[in-house]
Amino acid sequence: MVERDLDAFLVTNALNVRWLTGFTGSNGALFVGPDEVRLVTDGRYDEQAHRQLAAAGVTAEIDITPTGPIEVVVDRLRATTTVGLEADHLVWSAVERYEEALGADRIVPTTGVIETLRQHKDAGERARLERASAIADRSLVEVLVLFDDRPTEREFAMALDHQMRLNGADDVSFETIVASGPNAALPHHRPDHRVIEPEDLVVVDFGAKVDGYGSDMTRTFVAGGRPSTQQQDLYDAVAAAQAAGVAAVRHGVDQREIDTICRSVLAEHDLAEAFIHGTGHGLGLEIHEQPILSARSVGILTAGLIVTVEPGAYLPGFGGVRVEDTVVVTDTGCVPITHCPKGLDPVAVARQLPS
Ligand code: ZN
Ligand code: ZN
Repeated sequence: MVERDLDAFLVTNALNVRWLTGFTGSNGALFVGPDEVRLVTDGRYDEQAHRQLAAAGVTAEIDITPTGPIEVVVDRLRATTTVGLEADHLVWSAVERYEEALGADRIVPTTGVIETLRQHKDAGERARLERASAIADRSLVEVLVLFDDRPTEREFAMALDHQMRLNGADDVSFETIVASGPNAALPHHRPDHRVIEPEDLVVVDFGAKVDGYGSDMTRTFVAGGRPSTQQQDLYDAVAAAQAAGVAAVRHGVDQREIDTICRSVLAEHDLAEAFIHGTGHGLGLEIHEQPILSARSVGILTAGLIVTVEPGAYLPGFGGVRVEDTVVVTDTGCVPITHCPKGLDPVAVARQLPS
């Protein structure tokens, strides 16, 4: 706040409020004044707010009001002059209400203040991601046998989601991607009623959520376990790119460098044009957080960041391959938190499940 010349700051993004306080209610804002912190919510969350803030060791005052944070801000701001608002989160009509209540010159748009802090995960956050990731690893391996039953993409996705719940996930991280045959050429295909055939490439991109933190991994298989030469070549190129990207991750490296390395390996296999998305991203309370690893990245990787490395190659009409692991950046390299084995043959992968 001092750096940005703010007298006060109002956090309205629910995930930022959660990250700062532990509060998970759907209606909450955190007012940070010069010498006070107040969580503003409504009567539905009175008891929950007290419990969750106490559990997180947060000593903020709790204001229960039916009118939302604007009254509290107006009330508390008398002694001060400016309040920072989260520009990426507030809608236009809300900004107008703040302008009306405080005057346009007293509200300051800010971006990424809390999101930047959220990039580095502490031990508790890392433990949640590791737990989520372990559930995802195990669950995938446990449902691979279903390929023998020729399920539809949707059936396979539902089975995987169900398995993650059985194994302790609170939820899925995001809508599970199961893309088979020609659908595998679409990086974000939504599972449909297509039957997965034994000769299909199948891209499975998914994650489990534990205590708000969602894991992320991608594996690609040939459902029947017997890839064609072209399928194997495509897979080997992507797997080599992914391994090279992971090998380059360490404290102090340009974020863009990871993307460059993955792209250069794919270019050696004439697949530069087939890699049509960024290389990776941070993750945590959201499935896509800072930093984003792409050709446009400007920052450096620093120890404690948790990022994915997920190059892919997509050939329209033929299919596609993506391989994705999540890793923790360290001073000397990185430590994977995805431990699911890799390979095109689902039976061979299932056999290697780490205990
Ligand atoms: Zn993913
Ligand atoms: Zn991802």
